[in-house]
Amino acid sequence: MNDIEEVKRKLKGSGMKLTTQRIAILQILQNNKSHPTAMDIYRKLKLKQPTVSFTTVYNTLELLTHIGEIKKLTLDFERAHYDPDMSQHHHAICLKCGAIFDIQQSFELPMDKVTSDDFPLITGFHIDFWGYCGKCKDSVKDS
Ligand SMILES: [Zn+2]
Ligand SMILES: [Zn+2]
Repeated sequence: MNDIEEVKRKLKGSGMKLTTQRIAILQILQNNKSHPTAMDIYRKLKLKQPTVSFTTVYNTLELLTHIGEIKKLTLDFERAHYDPDMSQHHHAICLKCGAIFDIQQSFELPMDKVTSDDFPLITGFHIDFWGYCGKCKDSVKDS
């Protein structure tokens, strides 16, 4: 995500009113490494802005995704998570607690084996990893 002033300019340009609630959503997202869901952001915002609706949060996140300021992650099958870090990186999800972690390692894939006449040009890829985080690893070992 760009800095908040830049995002505000873009949102204005796409015809969206910059309410204090929407600006508060931007502030929650700024430098956020926790890959929050719409519900996470809604719960956090509700403490400061009791009148905010879930729809406002959801629509703002969808618009930010649409204008390329945040990424919508779908590795959690139950709910989408949002990531303001637009740099190239991969993700790992904990199967027990659902926490999502950044994987900064870069990977070489045999692209010539992936491309075909039907799909000759690949411009990027994203790898999702499943497993258990440091907090959950020991509790699943014995079961
Ligand atoms: Zn975990
Ligand atoms: Zn990430």
